[in-house]
Amino acid sequence: MKQLTEQELRAAFVNCTKGETKRLFVPRDLADRPWDDLDYLGWRDPQAPERAYLVTAPDGHPRGLALRCPTPSAQQPRRNMCSMCLTTPADGVALMVARKAGKAGQQGNSVGTYICADLACSLYLRGRKDPGPGARMQESLTLEEKIDRTVANLVAFLDRVTA
Ligand SMILES: [Zn+2]
Repeated sequence: MKQLTEQELRAAFVNCTKGETKRLFVPRDLADRPWDDLDYLGWRDPQAPERAYLVTAPDGHPRGLALRCPTPSAQQPRRNMCSMCLTTPADGVALMVARKAGKAGQQGNSVGTYICADLACSLYLRGRKDPGPGARMQESLTLEEKIDRTVANLVAFLDRVTA
């Protein structure tokens, strides 16, 4: 994806109030992120690791989600599969819960999905980060096809949040 500025990232969130958007933690090292190899930028708030964020822009229009997930210490070491990239990383997946956008969110509705706990789906797909032995299924898909599938999964999750 194309590199985004802090302002673009903050403006992308679909399930935050204006105040939350202003206050949420955005990484300082944006210039050092491997944007060319990212299908989404994902991060956690170091002060509050149960808060995770991801922003993607498959059609050039950035959309982001604020997520809640268990703190690493509360996580079970069970190995589950990420619903986005279909990797089963040794570092685990986390149930990430997004408050729904708009009125549904104000009424307390949320949707959840399992995502790589370190939000490194893009790097696992491209072999830039080792997910551990047996973490990837044997598949005949090309890298391009696996990326397309991951982006489609991500967009489907975003659509559930904004539906
Ligand atoms: Zn993943």
